[in-house]
Formats: sequence, structure tokens, C-alpha cells
Amino acid sequence: MLLEKGKDIAMRKQKRPLGILGTGDFARALAKRLYFSGYEIVLGSRRPEEKSFSAIDECLCNMRLVTTEECIKSVSIIFLAIHAENYKDLLEEHADKLDGKIIVDVSNRDRPSETKSNAEYLQRLIPNASVVKAFNVISAYAMENDYNTSSRQVFIASNNELSRNAISNIARNMNFTPLDFGGLFAARRIEKHPLRLFPDWRGPCGFTVAVFNIWLLYLIYIYYIEKTVYRWEQIFIKVMNKAICMTGITILSVTYLASSFAASLQLYYGTKHIRFSRWLDKWLKNRKQLGLVAFILITIHVMMSILIMSPTYLRSWFHSTKLVIPHNVTDVHVINNINWMTWKGEAACLTGIFAFILLCFVCVSTLPSVTDTLNWREWRFVQSKIGHVALFLSIVHVLVMGIPGWAKNPLKIYKSITFLSSILPWATIMLKILYSLPCIDRYLTKIRKGWERQEERCRGKCVRPKKEGYVIMNADDRSDAISGVCPCPGDTVQMVTLDTTSCGCSNGDIV
Ligand code: NAP
Repeated sequence: MLLEKGKDIAMRKQKRPLGILGTGDFARALAKRLYFSGYEIVLGSRRPEEKSFSAIDECLCNMRLVTTEECIKSVSIIFLAIHAENYKDLLEEHADKLDGKIIVDVSNRDRPSETKSNAEYLQRLIPNASVVKAFNVISAYAMENDYNTSSRQVFIASNNELSRNAISNIARNMNFTPLDFGGLFAARRIEKHPLRLFPDWRGPCGFTVAVFNIWLLYLIYIYYIEKTVYRWEQIFIKVMNKAICMTGITILSVTYLASSFAASLQLYYGTKHIRFSRWLDKWLKNRKQLGLVAFILITIHVMMSILIMSPTYLRSWFHSTKLVIPHNVTDVHVINNINWMTWKGEAACLTGIFAFILLCFVCVSTLPSVTDTLNWREWRFVQSKIGHVALFLSIVHVLVMGIPGWAKNPLKIYKSITFLSSILPWATIMLKILYSLPCIDRYLTKIRKGWERQEERCRGKCVRPKKEGYVIMNADDRSDAISGVCPCPGDTVQMVTLDTTSCGCSNGDIV
């Protein structure tokens, strides 16, 4: 026991003592975490005599609780666990005593800002200290209770590299993963981080709501305005189920269409070194969210369909029994009314079940714990191959329900919801099949490995010269198709070295 205690003291002495100013929630959580990571802690308070840590947590009794001034004097690294509004009040009188010390700013903002940060404000208040932005992305709760955090990142920024390294080491000892963001300017980005509200989900959710509204309005038009097909009380399940199903399949195809769209551009330009426009870049990055939204919608559709699985709601899915009772019958007749499913009902159920199960596979594979167990080929197989098969089965599910109706009324196909909702999924599947043809797939793979179709790489990006007959090019830009400086077919290329690095054509100072 004594030996253990001796070891503990020796370990703490090896590490530099750390100071924490403030005794609020975050200060106490940070103090505990640092203490259990082997550091000696000095807590600084405006009124240390009024604080009684034993009542809050026994562990804190092992730390020295001193005045702000004493804390600043006794350590060289200080965590400022107070709100940024109080920085001026607290530090004004101690600014000169902080010279040369490392001050860690853990504060968060109430609103994100592109132009200011608490850390930069703090650095201006104490210009001779080295301010480091860190730990603001960890909540007091996680700091105190969650010790299995090696995958949790702590973003670190400071103008002083040595200070950044010192705080990175402390973060590592606390079982966090430090991420060096460079100069203090980056504190603006770091302080925005805890204020984000599902930024990756906003686009996909907004898009889904828009698609859902379009389908719902269309259904209301054809089922209530153009002709009364359903009662208004059926809007909640019967009609809504159709709108959800149509939105689900649309979003699922949009998820898979992104990669085919990108492949089309790569084929067109004959290179993978094209910069995708922002919307396409976002579309590609949001495929996971789009896929999950589609899965949620399809799950809701499955649940609603099970709820209304009866001959009353799905008349064409079941055989009907016609009972004719003659008026002079007086005897009792027992007639068993068995309504088994038609081929349409059974086929729709079968394809629907398979499509849903495959989608569950795809969805489960996106869980980080499952993704970690898959290699690249397995992951691609599940996401791309199984995903496309699920989309294909979903289309078959829709077609099985739609085709009998189209056959009855071929002139009105264009109005049918099954026809309209299967156009985009079909296009997605067709593009996938096209790009999987061996000749196109080989060509695409070559491009993706860095090969470029030299002679046509500037197609569609040509720049007409100011001076007739010449394209003026910056010699440095010539090899860069992305720079936008490309001659039109038939133009003579005049190479000049320009001062500007951008498109030389605008300069016009040709020999
Ligand atoms: P808190 O509970 O309100 O504590 C703030 C502490 O600041 C007080 O206990 C007080 O300690 C000290 N202080 C110094 N000068 C002050 C003044 N003029 N007026 C009032 N208090 C003064 O706040 P907190 O939740 O611990 O947060 C502290 C900082 O950590 C904030 O900048 C916050 O943005 C950041 N943070 C908090 C969390 C969290 O989960 N709570 C997470 C990340 C970052 P003394 O009375 O002992 O001087």
C-alpha cells in the first residue's frame, strides 16, 4: 500500500503541476481527469475559503485549492475554466504575472462566428502569454465519467508550436487523441464545432422533405382533386403510405445515382482530376445520410403496409368471393369466405421482403463497429452490389403492383404513380449496368487509376484568346487541366510566363 502511494507520488512529481482557474462544473471535471492521469493539480478560485470540495467529491480534497494569484504563481500551465465574459475581470490585475506561461482556453461561444474567437480575444488580453485553444469539444460529463475515449479527438490550436505540443501530450495522457489545428486563427473553427447541429443531415433531410411534399401533393391531386378515389380519413395511412414509399425509393435511387453521375463526368473529361462542383461534392459526401433516410422511410412503409394488409385496403392483392343470396332462401347455409392472395399480392410481398432485408444488411454495414470488421472489397460489395440489388428488387416490387393497372389503361401510364416513381430508380440501375459493362468498366478503372485522355482533357473548358488566332497560356498552367486555361480546338498556343498565376488570357500582354 505504502509502495503504491510512493509510486503515485513519484509519478506525479515527474509531470509538471498544472493549474486550473475556476471551480465550476468544467473545472472540477477537468481536475479529476487530470488527477487520475497522474498530474498534480492546483485549483485557483476567487474565494477559496468559501469552497468545500469534500462535500462535492472526495477526490478533489487531494488537490490544493488556493487564490487565483497563488495558482498563477505556482504553475506554468494554466487551464482557464471560466466563461469568456469574465476573462477581462479576472485577468486584468494578473496580466503581467502570466508572461511566458501557457494558458489553455477551454471556453465555448454562445453563437458561432467567422471573424472572432474567445482564444484570440484572450491572446489580446495577455499578449505575453501563450494561449492554446483546447478541450472545448469535451463536455464536463464526458471529461468526468467517460474514460474510454481514445477515439475522441481534442482539437488544439496555438501560435506557439511548443505550447501546442505540451498540451497535445497532456491530452494524450488523459486518453484523448489530440489533433493539431495549427495557429490560433483555427480557434474560430474549433469554437464553431460544439455549436454544430447535424450539419451533414441538413441537406439530405431538406431534400427528402421537398421530395415528400411533391409526391404527397401529386397524390392529393389525383386521388382527391381530379377524381375522388379515397376518403379524406384515409389520408393518414393509405395515402401517406404511398407518399412515403415513393419518397423512399426516390431517395434510395438518388443515393446510388451520385456515383454514376460522377463516373459520367470522369468519362466525359477523360480524367479523374476534375474538380466536382460543390453540389456534386456534397451529394457524394452525403450518400450515407441519404441512404439512411431512405431506409427509415422504407421501414415506415413496411410497418404501415403490415397495418393495412387486408382485402379491404388492398383489394387487388386478394381474391374476392362473390356471395349471391336468392330472395326465397330460408335455410341456413354456411359459406366459408377464404380470401387468399392473388399472384400480384404474393409477388409484391416477396420482392418487398427481400428488398427490405437486403437494405437492412446495407444499413447495418454502415455502423462503425461493423464497418471496422469489413475489408475494402467486402464493404464495397455490401454497399454497391447488395445496395443495387435491393434497389432493383424495390423497383420490381413497385412494377408488380403497377403493371396490371398499366395494361388496363395504357394511355394513362404517364399519370400512374408506380410508373412515375420508378423512372429515376430505373435510370440509376441502367447507368450502373452500363458502367459495369467490361469495356466501360475497364476504361473507367484506368481513369480512376490516374490515366488521362491527353488530347481531349480540355474539352468543354476552352478559352478563346483576346488576340485573334492565339491562346495565351501561362507556361506553369499548361499541364494543369483544372486551371481553366485550355485552348479551343484549332487555336495556336502562345506560351508566356505571366505574373499572375490564374488564367493568363485576361492579361493580354502577348509578344
Ligand atoms: P461554471 O460552472 O459557471 O463555472 C465558472 C467558474 O468561473 C466559477 O465557478 C468561478 O469560480 C469562475 N469565475 C472566475 N471569475 C468569475 C466571474 N467574474 N464571474 C463568475 N465566475 C467566475 O462554468 P463551467 O460550466 O465550469 O464552464 C467553464 C468554462 O468551460 C466555460 O468557458 C465553458 O464554455 C467551458 N466549457 C464547459 C463545458 C461544460 O460541459 N460545462 C464544456 C466545455 C467547455 P470561482 O468562484 O472559484 O472563482
